[in-house]
Amino acid sequence: MTKTMGNSADLSGRVAVVTGSTSGIGYGIARHFALAGCNIVLNGLGDADRIEETRAGLAEEFGVSVLYDGADMTRPDLVRGMIADATERLGSVDILVNNAGIQHTDRVENFPTAKWDAIIAINMSSAFHSSAAAVPGMRERGWGRIINIASAHGLVASANKSAYVAAKHGLVGMTKVIALENAGSGVTCNAICPGWVRTPLVERQIEQLAKENGTDVESAAVNLLSAKQPSHQFVTPEQLGGTALFLCSPAAAQITGTSLSVDGGWTAQ
Ligand code: NAD
Repeated sequence: MTKTMGNSADLSGRVAVVTGSTSGIGYGIARHFALAGCNIVLNGLGDADRIEETRAGLAEEFGVSVLYDGADMTRPDLVRGMIADATERLGSVDILVNNAGIQHTDRVENFPTAKWDAIIAINMSSAFHSSAAAVPGMRERGWGRIINIASAHGLVASANKSAYVAAKHGLVGMTKVIALENAGSGVTCNAICPGWVRTPLVERQIEQLAKENGTDVESAAVNLLSAKQPSHQFVTPEQLGGTALFLCSPAAAQITGTSLSVDGGWTAQ
């Protein structure tokens, strides 16, 4: 990533909490914010040594404070505690990116209840708890950005994704409510709806498709894109980082309650 990005908001001194930022899209967004001078709270699961490497690497590369909070997004008390801790240690939470997410695919009649519960908790309810904890401070300071990483599946459906599609549609709905409740206060709330991004979450689906169709993984990736994404190109975490940064820029001050599709044309069809 270069230091010359269009549309870069100056976020010096701001604090961003990015859930699920030990990997994929969340990490891409955290990097963009760090590059813009923002202090960061990383969150997510993974190997402790690798997470510490990521944390220290970001802090050193961009000269900002980077903390790690391992709050499990299925635990409302830990989600709310993460916002309280970040406020105590870094002075505020100005930007909240609700990004943590998981996937499981199966027909509704075969969908395990535990998977349904986990997807609803991580992909949707965690954003309710984090937003509830972060909004009062944002309003008090007269500036805040809540960015919910929904999905094309927040706007349209695919078979075998009942929990994911329900959670992402719910997240898009909650985005509108939080936007309305805070309109005019300096706090905005928007959703970003990505199409296919080649992260570990999608890699597993590509591997499954390869197995089902008896093809190699790269042919399965092409098939996956062809079925939904007219550009036939993956969206990148860097592009989503740029989109999130735009939502924090002065140009986006009146954008609230909306869903921004970054999906290579998926939902235009
Ligand atoms: P990923 O698997 O690379 O990253 C998911 C992140 O969430 C990881 O950091 C993981 O540790 C974290 N996480 C998972 N369970 C958690 C828990 N219980 N507590 C805390 N953290 C937890 O996946 P990704 O593709 O980067 O997904 C990020 C978000 O983007 C998800 O909400 C996903 O639904 C959404 N999204 C992804 C795509 C895509 O094509 N990859 C498309 C649209 C939307």
